[in-house]
Amino acid sequence: MITIVGAGLAGSEAAWQIASLGIDVTLYEMRPQRATAVHKTADCAELVCSNSFRGDKLDNAVGLLKEEMRRLGSLIMRVADGCRVPAGAALAVDRERFSRSVTDALTSHPRITIVRDEVTTIPASSRLAPVILATGPLTSDALAADLLRLVGGGHLAFYDAISPIVLAESIDRSKVFRASRWDRSLRGAGSRTVGRDAPGNGTICGADDSAGDYLNCPFTREEYERFYEALTHAESATVHDFDREKFFEGCLPLEVMAHRGVDTLRFGPMKPVGLVNPATGCEAYAIVQLRQDDLAGDHYSLVGFQTQLKWGEQSRVLRMIPGLEQAEFVRFGMVHRNTYVNGPRVLDDTWQVRVRPSLFLAGQMSGVEGYVESAASGLLAGLNAAALTSDRPVISPPRTTAIGALAYYVSHANPAHYDPTNITFGIMAPLEKPPRGKQQRGVAHSERALVALDEWISERRRAWTEATAPS
Ligand SMILES: Cc1cc2nc3c(=O)[nH]c(=O)nc-3n(C[C@H](O)[C@H](O)[C@H](O)COP(=O)(O)OP(=O)(O)OC[C@H]3O[C@@H](n4cnc5c(N)ncnc54)[C@H](O)[C@@H]3O)c2cc1C
Repeated sequence: MITIVGAGLAGSEAAWQIASLGIDVTLYEMRPQRATAVHKTADCAELVCSNSFRGDKLDNAVGLLKEEMRRLGSLIMRVADGCRVPAGAALAVDRERFSRSVTDALTSHPRITIVRDEVTTIPASSRLAPVILATGPLTSDALAADLLRLVGGGHLAFYDAISPIVLAESIDRSKVFRASRWDRSLRGAGSRTVGRDAPGNGTICGADDSAGDYLNCPFTREEYERFYEALTHAESATVHDFDREKFFEGCLPLEVMAHRGVDTLRFGPMKPVGLVNPATGCEAYAIVQLRQDDLAGDHYSLVGFQTQLKWGEQSRVLRMIPGLEQAEFVRFGMVHRNTYVNGPRVLDDTWQVRVRPSLFLAGQMSGVEGYVESAASGLLAGLNAAALTSDRPVISPPRTTAIGALAYYVSHANPAHYDPTNITFGIMAPLEKPPRGKQQRGVAHSERALVALDEWISERRRAWTEATAPS
């Protein structure tokens, strides 16, 4: 018997996968007894915000992830496809029908028992009775405190301060320069160290480039004043209740810092000291630093630029940064309540907790971002919990697949600077001969991934059949 806590996107998918393998599941869900700040119903897999599962074509990574999940027998994908509403190239659903249909599928499955109760401590687990925690970004306080005891201080976050990310090819390289503060590169040269002043903690990986780890966008005084004016007059997003909590000083939204004074940013995330612009031979009046954000170097995040501005306002104001005039945003910034572990310190690529392998984490709390990614991690955690209890191999698909890449990122990214991630082609194993166009690259990734996944599915089926065949 397997216990799952949390019937959100991840927990519901995990329960379905396990029950489909003929194993009994008890699924705990605290709603409606206990509410969260954002859920509105008692249904399983409620979509708390948008009704979109994002792109559904194979030239984008989330489209690929969805196709992989379909091939793995995903309940979430099957129901989403059945509740589709018109949304162009995206998969959007009728949210009420979607959650009700997932709930119906789970409640009518003979192997699944749903218990409506809050779980306040991590249930005991063993190889024969694994546990999956999938309580999401708004995990209740008592359970979050117990998880903190298990994983240790510093490895569990309660807030997410997300900086915007831009597409590398949309940065105007003629205006930015590559350098690390005080010429201290995080890569290459062994004698160099990370300066105390260095913002953030570098990249996950990437080509050695001793010219520095950051792309720097230099401002003149006039450019800075124009930017400051626009920032302090821009409109913030509507906040949820939980966002009214006090912010930590270490992750203040950009606009909150700006309102403290005209020079606050120049002594904070826009500090220019130690960064000499080779074009002028001088330090700029202010700087915005861009840090490589994915394995392939396709994405750059704006260091220290967590913000709650409305997305339209972000694209308007941030395009005033020299070099970002034509920037294409891969993700906008936000600050919100989010309980998640530092995946690389806590998890294996099988979604097992390293210090307690009979315990699995899945969904947003495991360090992924997004509905589809949460459900995908639940799918793999479910398959692996079932494998563990049946004495079969606990494995993950290869990193050439989207679902395998997600598992790899969560367990192998740089733990010193861990951010939950959406699926992107940038976290997948690089292509040997990447086509030139972005769309063609995406399609090439997808073609390779689906072949690899089909092989993985066949091998896994063979391993399961052999393990059950009479000797
Ligand atoms: C405000 C907000 C908006 C978001 N908007 C989007 C969006 O538009 N698009 C997108 O792709 N992603 C969005 N996300 C991110 C993420 O994809 C969703 O939060 C997603 O629902 C995560 O899935 P999950 O299964 O990990 O958690 P959830 O879907 O939240 O499921 C966790 C479940 O666990 C239950 N639970 C919690 N604690 C306990 C306990 N102690 N005992 C028993 N049950 C418990 C909860 O009631 C809940 O049902 C948003 C997140 C937040 C916080």
